[in-house]
Amino acid sequence: MFDIQAVRSDFPILARQVHGQPLVYFDNAATSQKPQRVLDAIAHYYEATNSNVHRGVHTLSGEATDAYEGARVRIGQWFGVTDPGEIILLRGATEGLNLVAQVLATRLSPGDEVLVGETEHHANIVPWQQLATTHGIIVTKIPVNARGELSLTEAKALAVPGRTKVIAVGHVSNAIGAINDIPGFVQLAREVGAYSVIDGAQAAPHMRVNVAELGADFYAISAHKLCAPTGIGVLFGRRPLLEELPPWQGGGDMIERVSFSGTTFNVLPWKFEAGTPNIADTIGFAAALDYLDSIDFDAAIHHEETLHATLIQAMQAHPKIQVLGSPNKWVSVCSFNVVGAHPTDVGTLLDQLGFAVRTGHHCAMPTMEHFGLAGTARASLAFYNTREEIERFMNALDRVIGMLTD
Ligand SMILES: *Cc1c(COP(=O)(O)O)cnc(C)c1O
Repeated sequence: MFDIQAVRSDFPILARQVHGQPLVYFDNAATSQKPQRVLDAIAHYYEATNSNVHRGVHTLSGEATDAYEGARVRIGQWFGVTDPGEIILLRGATEGLNLVAQVLATRLSPGDEVLVGETEHHANIVPWQQLATTHGIIVTKIPVNARGELSLTEAKALAVPGRTKVIAVGHVSNAIGAINDIPGFVQLAREVGAYSVIDGAQAAPHMRVNVAELGADFYAISAHKLCAPTGIGVLFGRRPLLEELPPWQGGGDMIERVSFSGTTFNVLPWKFEAGTPNIADTIGFAAALDYLDSIDFDAAIHHEETLHATLIQAMQAHPKIQVLGSPNKWVSVCSFNVVGAHPTDVGTLLDQLGFAVRTGHHCAMPTMEHFGLAGTARASLAFYNTREEIERFMNALDRVIGMLTD
């Protein structure tokens, strides 16, 4: 049994009030809240073990290195990746996608094409556009269909062997919540000899993701949307590719030997991890995964899916609300507009009533443009939300609609 009240009590912030109202946190697609276990792990690291990793002969450095490298293995275990060399620890999904674009640039020539999903987060669009400027590559969008999913059929029509060199798509769109056909896109990339780059930032919090099974060349995730601290994320890459690609940033940790007559680079994964890493938050990430195991992640997802179905049903049935997209499969994101009201006004009034929702373009301006919207309000759920919060939300929305429309 998934004990929702016990789970909520693990998240201290959920007990707070906003404008004198109990907080209802529906902004989980922007970042998730953190359980006490994660906060404790970070505090414990700084209180008992803090030291720089990899270079020290002293006890603390050894302990910090063991904890940091142990966290890497733990993270790999969660995502089905057994080779620590394929797990590059970075600042977030954004940094992972920038790393991929910049190192792949050394393998691209002017006129080569990168197919990019129309519903991508800006983190999976802009790094490719930058290569268009610096390397003369062509960025072509894979169109979104009417339901809000990336069209594999249209991607197949666009992909050309010898010209298409990268297919970069999101596993789940953060503005709509649509789950895209990643096995299909990975297969297509393989068929045309292109690299597959998957933005998994919005998938990881809502489903079991087995990176090895998906088989993409690169898969980027963000820890802070998965109950872990901000400032940590992972780029998973296939070893043969990572071996052959050049390093990204230069500095400490990523080198084997430095001399003014030439420098040699460290082995994987450290070749791609220049400088002191985010040790504490990597340990916090492993603690978050331990926490998710302790509450039964599958049961948590099931609870969240039930909430989402309830929310979507109520929202779609509401005469004054328009929900963005209707994918065949989606995660617990609900992007919506109140007919005749601006999303910012909706979000501001909801905040007064204690509800945290996001408003605007959600870092996916091309998605908004496609659907002819300036922005939306977005309620995004997590497993620690409740059915009662959804009922209160629908009542609050009715009040807000009464205030904003006639
Ligand atoms: C949040 C998000 C990102 C950015 O992730 P960070 O770890 O915050 O850099 C990228 N893509 C999608 C789909 C996201 O939801």
